[in-house]
Amino acid sequence: MSKTIGIDLGTTNSCVSVVEGGHAVIIPNDKGERTTPSVVAFTNDGTRLVGSAAAHQATVNAKRTISSIKRQMGTDWRVNIDGKSWTPQEISAMILRKLRSDAESYLGEPVTDAVITVPAYFNDIQRQATKDAGAIAGLNVKRIINEPTSAALAYGLNTGTAQKVMVYDLGGGTFDVSVIEIGESVIEVLATSGDNHLGGDDFDERVVNWVCEEAARTQRVNLRNDLVALARVKEAAEQAKKELSAAETAQITLPYITQQGGAPVHLDLTLTRSKFNEMTRDLVERTAGPVQAALNDAGIAASELGRVLLVGGSTRIPAVQQKVRQLTGKEPSKNINPDECVAQGAAIQGDTLSSSKALSVNKGILLLDVTPLSLSIETVGGVATRLVERNSTLPVHYSQIFTTAAPFQTSVEIHVLQGERPMAADNKTIGKFKLKGIKMAPAGVPQIEVTFDIDTNGILRVSAKDMDTGKEQGITITANDKMSDAEINAAIRDAEQYAAQDQVRRDSLNIIHEAQQLMNDVEKALDEKGKQLDKAEKKQIKDDVNALRKLVFRKQPDKMEESDLSAIRAGMDTLRQAASHLMNS
Ligand code: AMP
Repeated sequence: MSKTIGIDLGTTNSCVSVVEGGHAVIIPNDKGERTTPSVVAFTNDGTRLVGSAAAHQATVNAKRTISSIKRQMGTDWRVNIDGKSWTPQEISAMILRKLRSDAESYLGEPVTDAVITVPAYFNDIQRQATKDAGAIAGLNVKRIINEPTSAALAYGLNTGTAQKVMVYDLGGGTFDVSVIEIGESVIEVLATSGDNHLGGDDFDERVVNWVCEEAARTQRVNLRNDLVALARVKEAAEQAKKELSAAETAQITLPYITQQGGAPVHLDLTLTRSKFNEMTRDLVERTAGPVQAALNDAGIAASELGRVLLVGGSTRIPAVQQKVRQLTGKEPSKNINPDECVAQGAAIQGDTLSSSKALSVNKGILLLDVTPLSLSIETVGGVATRLVERNSTLPVHYSQIFTTAAPFQTSVEIHVLQGERPMAADNKTIGKFKLKGIKMAPAGVPQIEVTFDIDTNGILRVSAKDMDTGKEQGITITANDKMSDAEINAAIRDAEQYAAQDQVRRDSLNIIHEAQQLMNDVEKALDEKGKQLDKAEKKQIKDDVNALRKLVFRKQPDKMEESDLSAIRAGMDTLRQAASHLMNS
């Protein structure tokens, strides 16, 4: 049976893991990195880059580089590149496809099944969009699970004591804090809070500002006007920040960073941890409010927490850890890499779903997640009548009987809302449908049963049934931003077609490289040992080299088709044969 991978599809970085020999191991990408930047770029020649290749060219190709796509999941955001409009699901799918392909290279077998994590506060539309992204990437998403729940699984907290745990997750662009309750066989998210615009990027930005100010003060240059210089400063700033997590000082050395009156400018700065702490103190302080809010929402004091887990690369910053100690009065657990534990938990959950319970490393734990917001339908007077309360434990099945407001009404519109406000107009519409064919009757007589079903992935289905006629209608959330099955299928086809094209492109580049290598070797040998050959043999080899060169340069590599590649391969064989005597002598 093929393995189920666990994917942490993060705002800044993504990570993929799989259970091997009873342990969740991290799958490195093709560059050997354990996390992959969640960045997609379209270069001017139409090549798509994903991961660090995309991140490295982000500053100089800003308009065609997409970062933090996770923030747009479930919205109608679109990016237009070369006349094609891409949805957040499709962009996310490109990241997922890369993670999948890295996992396939690592495992040496096809991978289709996955568990993907999402923030605990993601609403139905955002969860569905994540599932759709998985489908576009050719993945069978077996479960969507909450990130804090996943972290708890990675820490193996499901096997021991019942306790309440805080998960403090400071990543590259977002801060999430959750209080979860671990029971004998369930993990429940009690409360979540956070700041959608606070993370490691803000810390980098402070260091970038400082470097630019120092450059202006000491060298009188404005690095902000020089995109290439700024990209180097950003990289160096992040590097220095990371070094300061382990050392008291970091050196920022940027030779030839820019020019001033024709002369090169070099920067060599020393940043101390105390200076770094001073310039980022307010950022660290901003995590205090959400921590308190999550505790309040969960109805507990910090002293009732059994454990505090650190998640997200930015929790490696010593001042952040100090803040967590101060806020919770606890020594936070950090024995698993904070940027890897969410993916590991997802892999553990995937393993549970794909293997028999007895063999599972996860003892078959049932993950109970909660609805992040209340769900209602609009009733007379524009009122939002609640059917499912916020923080209800999943799965949810709830029905309520409604009736008609006007006499002889034969249809009703079910307007499904998500949010905490009493009036429909103040909540978010997540779907609408009509139940037609209600038997004519005075107002208030028909009995219409409205049912909300939310499955363990947090995906909502709403149905309405006329109890008299048995007529039923339903939807699985159809907000404008949810893609239809047809759109998903079209996107899958597109992604697959791209994958095939990409393969041909990779093959053609390899073959061209091989052919050029062969021509070089043969020409070199002709120069060195050509005298040993008779005239006719020499001419034959030269003709074959020229013929091969023509084939190689006949088309641009990205325009080549399989038939062109076969012709080059045949040309190489001919040349190898003709030159075998020369090459082996
Ligand atoms: P994540 O999205 O969880 O992978 O977190 C990414 C963020 O963690 C980025 O802003 C990184 O710069 C930051 N990060 C990674 N390693 C360290 C470190 N050793 N010290 C400080 N920040 C780090």
